Amino acid sequence: MKRIIPAVLAVLLFFGCGEKEVPTPVEITFPSTAPAEPAGTPPQSACPADATPQPVPVKADMEYCTVICDDAVNLRESPSAKAELTAQVPSGTRVHVIGFEGRYAKVELEENGKTGYMIAGYLMPENSVYSASQVQPTALYTYDAMMTDIGALTAKYADIMQVETLGISAAGKEIPVLLLGSKNAEKHVFIQASIHGREHMTSLLAMALSEAWLASGASDTVCFHVAPMVNPDGVSISQGLLDDPSLQAIYEKDVSSDRTERNYEDYRTLWKANYHGVDLNRNFDALWENVNTAPHISSEGYRGDAPESEPEAKALAAYTKRYPFSATVSYHCTGSLIYWQFGLNSPVDDKALTLAELIAADAGYTVEPDDGTSFGGYKDWASSVAGIPSLTVEIGTRSAPLPEIDFYNIWVRNRNAFEIIEKWAKNA
Ligand SMILES: [Zn+2]
Repeated sequence: MKRIIPAVLAVLLFFGCGEKEVPTPVEITFPSTAPAEPAGTPPQSACPADATPQPVPVKADMEYCTVICDDAVNLRESPSAKAELTAQVPSGTRVHVIGFEGRYAKVELEENGKTGYMIAGYLMPENSVYSASQVQPTALYTYDAMMTDIGALTAKYADIMQVETLGISAAGKEIPVLLLGSKNAEKHVFIQASIHGREHMTSLLAMALSEAWLASGASDTVCFHVAPMVNPDGVSISQGLLDDPSLQAIYEKDVSSDRTERNYEDYRTLWKANYHGVDLNRNFDALWENVNTAPHISSEGYRGDAPESEPEAKALAAYTKRYPFSATVSYHCTGSLIYWQFGLNSPVDDKALTLAELIAADAGYTVEPDDGTSFGGYKDWASSVAGIPSLTVEIGTRSAPLPEIDFYNIWVRNRNAFEIIEKWAKNA
């Protein structure tokens, strides 16, 4: 397997209401697959002016929004933090949303008809876009709230839903898996969220998608297995609900090796790892030895002493082998894009790319090939070792933890995901 490590990542440019560039991998060449184009990209023209991809049209209920932020949001000529800044749009401004493209929304300003791109996570829809009765939008979706919601959904949808246990977390929490549809269905798909603690918005999305799927009657042929919170301890640490001397000791290690200058509270809010200080998404047996690991246990980036050293990773791998999954989808937070590849495995890659493009075409996300810099992740293991077409879907427009307002564009862009996956899985 040939891997080329990119030397340069994008630099940060202008800042406005938290806008910053998400590092974008430098394009690399794989021997036999062409890099994926963002969904909806028109054929490249000789004229650069024609080369701008068109945003995916917005769904009608998010057509008019109000900008909500501390001061003003940058309006840019194209969907990139490096693009020319054409205006600063004050909080409270009403905008017409034309479509989504990656982290950006293309908008038209009501007052002067000016169009441009702004970060979609600052847009509050005028109309209500979310109508589920049990799972409610919040910036802090907790383990307890999730367990309450699972109990209520199980009672309401007993005929089409059951709950299994993925395993027990490092600090002793039970990790549930919801089975939507029949356990004996012809096809199975695995959805997992919040393997990174601070990305708890993904648990809210997974639960909201599950409730909507149940309300629509689920599927006769495809059973969705949804593990909405794989790392409940990490979520609780990030939400300020779990703290003890062992976490303080991990913080002290990072302070003494100059890995953080944050105060302890901010450090915990940004916690990605599990309770032991191992980054679960670096703890899988997929070129694990290549992981660019933190030197010791930490709030993020430490790969562990061995692949699957952590109970959550071990449980996730075991569950993945328990059913004949047609696909796995891992929800993460930052970037509004979809990763579909790990190394080269053509049959799996082809199917994964098709699914990624279908989801991206509806959500307005960009589709990214493996950039050869990341190893040891669940998606990496599931595709390269378990041989299952597997995606990582990065839902948010900013760094986690995400504020509640980011949920609305996330919901509108992802609410058809299960329907899209179901159709794809029937033919997989
Ligand atoms: Zn993540």
